[in-house]
Amino acid sequence: MRGHEADGLRVAIAGGSIGGLAAATALRSVGSAVEVYERTPHQMTSRGAGIVVQPSLTALLSQVGAPALPMTRCTHRQYLSPDGGSGALSAMPQRFTSWEAIYRTLVAAFPDEHCHRGVEVTGFDQEPNGGPVTVRLGDGRNAEADLLVCADGWRSAARGRLLPQVAPHYAGYIAWRGTLDESDAPADLVDFFDDSFTFSDARAGGHALCYFIPGAEARTQPGERRLNWVWYVHVDEGPELDEILTDDAGERRAGSVPQGRVAPAVAARMREAAVGELHPRFAKLIAATPEPFVQVILDLAVPRMLFGRVCLVGDAAFIVRPHTAGATAKAADDARALALAAQAWRADFDTELVRWEADRLAGGQAMSHYGLALGRRVAWA
Ligand SMILES: Cc1cc2nc3c(=O)[nH]c(=O)nc-3n(C[C@H](O)[C@H](O)[C@H](O)COP(=O)(O)OP(=O)(O)OC[C@H]3O[C@@H](n4cnc5c(N)ncnc54)[C@H](O)[C@@H]3O)c2cc1C
Repeated sequence: MRGHEADGLRVAIAGGSIGGLAAATALRSVGSAVEVYERTPHQMTSRGAGIVVQPSLTALLSQVGAPALPMTRCTHRQYLSPDGGSGALSAMPQRFTSWEAIYRTLVAAFPDEHCHRGVEVTGFDQEPNGGPVTVRLGDGRNAEADLLVCADGWRSAARGRLLPQVAPHYAGYIAWRGTLDESDAPADLVDFFDDSFTFSDARAGGHALCYFIPGAEARTQPGERRLNWVWYVHVDEGPELDEILTDDAGERRAGSVPQGRVAPAVAARMREAAVGELHPRFAKLIAATPEPFVQVILDLAVPRMLFGRVCLVGDAAFIVRPHTAGATAKAADDARALALAAQAWRADFDTELVRWEADRLAGGQAMSHYGLALGRRVAWA
């Protein structure tokens, strides 16, 4: 890995979550001078839920010389019916991690002094024909860059400005999610779910799934892990969805209600419904989870990712269905491909950026279509 070079490509990144830090580490590894602007003022220490580890992510981490990613493992899949019983087993090794573990690993791989937390990107202007981009910052400063990477997530203000006609839309179902410390879980649940990626059909359609992820401080030893579960539930847009997304303080949230903020009556109804809908072990797991949270399933696919020297990456560009287990891998692929293009800095960088866009649009579209197909198989839409 090379350190950043004085005459290297100057990159500003809006957003310091997984997409932004993936791009930051990848670009820095090829000599670019990278500054990350993240509006959240502190390191994001959300507990974070589970993520299936994909080769794209581990390839990025090894390319940028990141520390080892904390991971848990299983050897098989377990398919259950809502009627109970031990279900069907099939051998299928898999590795899992958590959002928090990936975030910590990327943070450790990028120098803190180049990550400006509490600084929002509020706008940008660019000179034509590959001229510099002036990035306007919420603290009143401007930063000049040769490339602005917008990794500002599903509600991307940059996308709103560049592609005002493109917005995420609701896919017709939600994901109830939760994590439970293994040390707080009944022993029979730990035994039942250990060493497997477990699925239960739900009576009304959809399904639930469960696997172990790293626990506090991303620890992975048995006894220190967490059980991570997801339950996809069809909910029509309208009063029912509004009620689920209205938090414990009465605020109607947009895309999710985080851990600890779901209205108690809504959580109680969900737990009750799980008893009738899912395998009894899932109902017990959900009942034992102190702070379930909820996320709406959204679709988004942009027609363009490159606008001169400004580009969109990660969830700002494509939101893919969670069944693909691919959002983080996609962000890693956006980043690695961008680093390849950046190697042509001082040569034909703009042509390489156009190639980057074609490659990553194809990648995003393929994953979107795959997610829609999986959604039709496993859910309702
Ligand atoms: C705290 C947190 C926890 C998450 N937990 C999970 C999880 O458990 N499981 C899972 O599958 N996915 C999770 N996600 C989503 C996941 O990170 C994304 O789906 C995916 O990895 C792509 O990430 P992204 O960086 O493109 O978008 P995001 O993760 O949404 O990050 C966008 C970032 O940009 C910042 N930002 C937005 N606008 C501006 C601006 N104008 N200026 C500066 N900064 C800005 C936001 O604060 C945010 O940190 C989480 C995201 C966050 C922020």
